[in-house]
Amino acid sequence: MKTASERRELLKSVYQQARVCVECPLHETRTNVVFGSGNADAELMFIGEAPGANEDLQGLPFVGQAGKLLEKLLGEIGLERGDVFIANTLMCRPPGNRDPYPHELEACQHYLFTKLELIQPTMICTLGNFATKLLRGEPTGISKIHGQVEVRTVGPRAVRLYPLYHPAAALYTPSTLEMLRADFLRIPEILGMGPPDQPESQGASPEGLEEPPGQAGEALEDPLAHAPETPPAAQPDPPPADSEQLGLF
Ligand code: URA
Repeated sequence: MKTASERRELLKSVYQQARVCVECPLHETRTNVVFGSGNADAELMFIGEAPGANEDLQGLPFVGQAGKLLEKLLGEIGLERGDVFIANTLMCRPPGNRDPYPHELEACQHYLFTKLELIQPTMICTLGNFATKLLRGEPTGISKIHGQVEVRTVGPRAVRLYPLYHPAAALYTPSTLEMLRADFLRIPEILGMGPPDQPESQGASPEGLEEPPGQAGEALEDPLAHAPETPPAAQPDPPPADSEQLGLF
């Protein structure tokens, strides 16, 4: 059993690994890896789709208009960014903000699972259709399922999964904003339910996302297991990102 400070240090190491990731072709077009930011010990995690242009430039998730709305809605339930952890299904921006491709999601999946393993959230809010369908492993759209909490196993963790409209979709559509706000208001009550029972084996197979080959059933004992032993020679110098860019609270 790792302490919170051990998990936090491991999360920083995984971030150092992630920021030079070349596991899918998106590394060729990204400016920064957007690892995710927030509280390393958060009960509540938000998972969006993928970084956009602003996020790619700053290396932080949800820093544009959608992020401002997310912060505002958090504020309305007495929370701030530093109370939660915000991440995406992909850490690198797909060119032109197209939808992520399956091979990109597969390459990034172990990072998402490691974040869940180390942060140990009890609740995940998926933001929008894409993250919701991916984490639930089902095609049901967000308009049918938003605001309906259920216990799901995502990678290594059983969590209370709570699908929400994407804040970008609520920016210019008042009726979507009202639904998003109403769903947000129930977050404290769902957090109050506490953690769901965990699967017996911490490495139990995920329902929502497929394990990459060779990983099924393995406990994530060593979150750096996927680190390349030596960074490829052709890799350009990473940006001067450090824990400050990680935005860890
Ligand atoms: N939209 C997302 O899904 N994620 C971000 O980080 C920003 C916008």
